[in-house]
Amino acid sequence: MCGIYASYSKNAAKKVLLGLKRIEYRGYDSWGIASLKSGNISVRKQIGKLSNLKDIVFEQVDLSLGHTRWATHGGVTKINAHPHLAKNKSFALVQNGVVENYQDLKEKLISAGYEFVSETDTEIIVGLLEQEMEKKAEKTLNPEIFAKVFQNLSGRNTIAVITNDGRLMAIRHGSPLLVGKNSRRDYCFSSDILSMSDDMEEYIIVDSGEMVSFNCATKEFVVTNIETKMVIVKKFAPIDHRAEVSEKNEFGSYMLKEIHEQATVLPRVVSGLEKNFLLATKMLKDADQIFTLACGSASFATGNTAYLLRKAGYKASAIEAYEADSYLNLFNKYSVCIVYSQSGETADTNEIVELMKKKGAKIISVVNMPGSTLTQMSDLSFMLRVGPELAVASTKAFFGQVLWGTTIYDILTGLKFNDIEIKINEFEHKLKEWFSNNEIQKKIENLAKDLTKHEHLFVLGRGDLYYASLESALKLKEISYIHAEGFSGGELKHGVIALITKNTPVLCLVAEDKNKANMLNAISEVRARGGRTIVIAKQDNDLYSDWIQLPDTRDYIFLSSIIPSQLMTCYMAMVKGYDVDKPRNLAKSVTVK
Ligand code: GLU
Repeated sequence: MCGIYASYSKNAAKKVLLGLKRIEYRGYDSWGIASLKSGNISVRKQIGKLSNLKDIVFEQVDLSLGHTRWATHGGVTKINAHPHLAKNKSFALVQNGVVENYQDLKEKLISAGYEFVSETDTEIIVGLLEQEMEKKAEKTLNPEIFAKVFQNLSGRNTIAVITNDGRLMAIRHGSPLLVGKNSRRDYCFSSDILSMSDDMEEYIIVDSGEMVSFNCATKEFVVTNIETKMVIVKKFAPIDHRAEVSEKNEFGSYMLKEIHEQATVLPRVVSGLEKNFLLATKMLKDADQIFTLACGSASFATGNTAYLLRKAGYKASAIEAYEADSYLNLFNKYSVCIVYSQSGETADTNEIVELMKKKGAKIISVVNMPGSTLTQMSDLSFMLRVGPELAVASTKAFFGQVLWGTTIYDILTGLKFNDIEIKINEFEHKLKEWFSNNEIQKKIENLAKDLTKHEHLFVLGRGDLYYASLESALKLKEISYIHAEGFSGGELKHGVIALITKNTPVLCLVAEDKNKANMLNAISEVRARGGRTIVIAKQDNDLYSDWIQLPDTRDYIFLSSIIPSQLMTCYMAMVKGYDVDKPRNLAKSVTVK
């Protein structure tokens, strides 16, 4: 989590604040910026999201470093916000990650007389750097000390500093960092490529274990391996990924806009990728055992993919990345693992991928962010190409992941790629029609208004719609802050039914397949106990208290069922007055463990 953005250029402070705004999806409990002017570092911090930048007077400086925080250690306070300034004001530092041995290091620093002002693990790094500078009788922070101290930290950390003698330095271990530059020899350090300012022309990805150091006086830029201390020559590549300029337009929120975009981005997930899809299916056919790996919403998409693979006769197991550590002995060179991550930087996921690779497993990844760590670690990687997802809660990236898995299933069960593309185009057309049906849209909005008064909500689905029920419940928690639980329709009578009383709202996802009869049984069991059944289905039925009509498509039942549920959740949050794009306590790219 957290966003790092630094700039060396004319108007650096303005560039950093604009960069932080673009990178804010990574953490938004507080932000801060440090700037260098005539040998003095000034720091400005604030709690909350970046406000309207129009009102901010930008300092005219050439070097600035900024941070948007997602607190892990220490409350959301101005003091805990980054950057953290050294006591002698010789440098200001920001961190993305967690110093896992912080308790130990903190005790040592305290017994050596260091006085902490914040509650963060970040200040430990500041203290260690100051201690080392004192030992070496250095007045300013140099790359050697910076690299040396970093090696005492455990955990996945990326840190960056500006110094009062005009250096910009960063070390990456885990959380992503990229460097951009242009022909004027302006530089920027950023947590993602899409957030780099438009005047950047080329970039490099900083790899784990590398330090980048720029000296403003000499304009010298150096990359070093912090262990071997060897200089690494890295070739800057042209920036060919630019963030699509994304406005909320009439939607009022990115989330609502991105839900609607799902109809249009569908073909991009597969178009022109026949060769890669065939390669992926070959890898799966050759595997002894297939795993799927992800966290959060993406883990419901991988869960669905594993389910489809089993349906197609393959041995496939869905595992949550944060639990996989316990059964590493299952992975070997005959295993193939399908990994979904919107950002490609999910720390829990990437850590297991690293361990799987050591065991010889092959990795197929599906990512939406160019240049990500996961992509680099994969044997075969796919870009979702659904466009930047700016709302923190995933909708269109999740949608793309499910479509990717369905496409794999379609190929494995004998469909020609061309026919899949036709099927997707038909689906796109039907979805657009459905979105423009005002009656349905109004009905969802009204239902949402009605449901906001409830504190608990259950979601039932089965078979093809089981994982859709889990994802629907997660979205309700994330955005509407409602206690929602997703279950298989089959689970109801085995326990959950004890929770159904008069008017308990139960959202039911019903497909026209062999599971329908059993879903109708579950629905009538809910009704018999006075519960209210809100049913997303193609056809109405007397058993339904409320019916939301699905698009009339022959395929993609999961994808068409998830949309009404996403819309309902989004409207519920809007009615409650919540910030649907930046829900409380969450961040988009979960780069801490
Ligand atoms: N551990 C640091 C803190 O709590 C940084 C967290 C982050 O990556 O935003 O301040």
